[in-house]
Amino acid sequence: MDFTNSEKLYKEALQHIVGGVNSPSRSYKAVGGGAPVAMERGKGAYFWDVDGNRYIDYLAAYGPIITGFAHPHISAAIKKAADNGVLFGTPTPYEVKFAKMLKEAIPSLDKVRFVNSGTEAVMTTIRVARAYTGRDKIIKFEGCYHGHSDLVLVAAGSGPSQLGMPDSAGVTRAIANEVITVPYNDVEPFKQALEKWGDEVAAVLVEPIVGNFGIVPPKPGFLEAINELAHKAGALVIYDEVITAFRFMYGGAQNLLGVTPDLTAMGKIIGGGLPIGAYGGRKDIMEEVAPLGPAYQAGTMAGNPASMLAGIACLEVLQEEGVYEKLDRLGAMLEKGIMEAAKKHGVTITINRLVGAFTVYFTDEKVENYKQAEASDGEMFAKFFKLMLNRGINLAPSKYEAWFLTTEHTEEDAQETIKAVDYAFSQLGK
Ligand code: PMP
Repeated sequence: MDFTNSEKLYKEALQHIVGGVNSPSRSYKAVGGGAPVAMERGKGAYFWDVDGNRYIDYLAAYGPIITGFAHPHISAAIKKAADNGVLFGTPTPYEVKFAKMLKEAIPSLDKVRFVNSGTEAVMTTIRVARAYTGRDKIIKFEGCYHGHSDLVLVAAGSGPSQLGMPDSAGVTRAIANEVITVPYNDVEPFKQALEKWGDEVAAVLVEPIVGNFGIVPPKPGFLEAINELAHKAGALVIYDEVITAFRFMYGGAQNLLGVTPDLTAMGKIIGGGLPIGAYGGRKDIMEEVAPLGPAYQAGTMAGNPASMLAGIACLEVLQEEGVYEKLDRLGAMLEKGIMEAAKKHGVTITINRLVGAFTVYFTDEKVENYKQAEASDGEMFAKFFKLMLNRGINLAPSKYEAWFLTTEHTEEDAQETIKAVDYAFSQLGK
């Protein structure tokens, strides 16, 4: 495949945009470097790069694009916003309609607030939890990503009784001292952290189904134990559903798993591809938020009509009969085909799949926590990624990300993808 124009564009981008990308995960740093392929247009399950190459896409823009690119129902909604004014700085009927839709889909949301990104949504749930409990610390889980606000850019200390270390320059020690990070899917270290810090913990923050070291569901009873222990210690439970909300069913991971948090952060899918975030939860907790309460959160762009209308339209598409069944069917087909290709060519992999999202790890271990995901062979993945790209299949350029299916992928796309995987696996040992 010819990537000349992408390469030229990257050279130019490097002169004007820091690192040539507007989000670090878009660079190919984790897959051996090179110019990231630049896209010009998309339709359905495909997009076309600046050299005219077509790809079947499984990145879905890191999750939001569940109905494919330029879905006509969503495009019509965005056009309506463009024609009628995209921003008023006043209440609108669209935000009320959308808030009602979210509440109907996810019953733990007594009250919601719209913001502009997943980062903002998570950041604010933490502030609200602190306001409500009068405590400062949070507990989070190793390998989970919660956006780029200071507090969640803190890595694990050396054990459950250790506070965190800044994970980014510019995050202060004082902030790291407020964060405890423990392994996902393991109740004991969480319990120990609560024994040590319990009366200082405002909230425990968790991706109920992990999306950030691949797709990793909770072990039976894990989230229930977290809920019970956190509440016993007087801490709130925050679910980061930025990836998971509407990914596996119409509603959140919490609906699917039958577990209820106090607060939920959302983003990605609910914006239909436009910038969005939202948070919500129990009424008495949400009433901490200004103008009702003392916890401040605001936004010039928050609840803007374009994002609201695109989000409503996206959820309308997802309400259609059989959407998630189709995602599951295609997911199962890909899982089976990829597994068969791996066996055929003697490539060791583990696949974690839930409905239309899955991760292929280059390891023979089960993946239930971050350490196990880390064991996936990064060099093998890098080779695999580039082989797939050259066959017109776009994956996220990181061994930790998921493949995301959209409502627009077809069985033919899945077959073409399996053929590409078969070829890529045949080349991996070479
Ligand atoms: N939480 C989770 C679980 C995420 O995956 C992400 C983004 N990948 C965020 C929060 C941050 O969202 P945003 O990039 O919209 O700020």
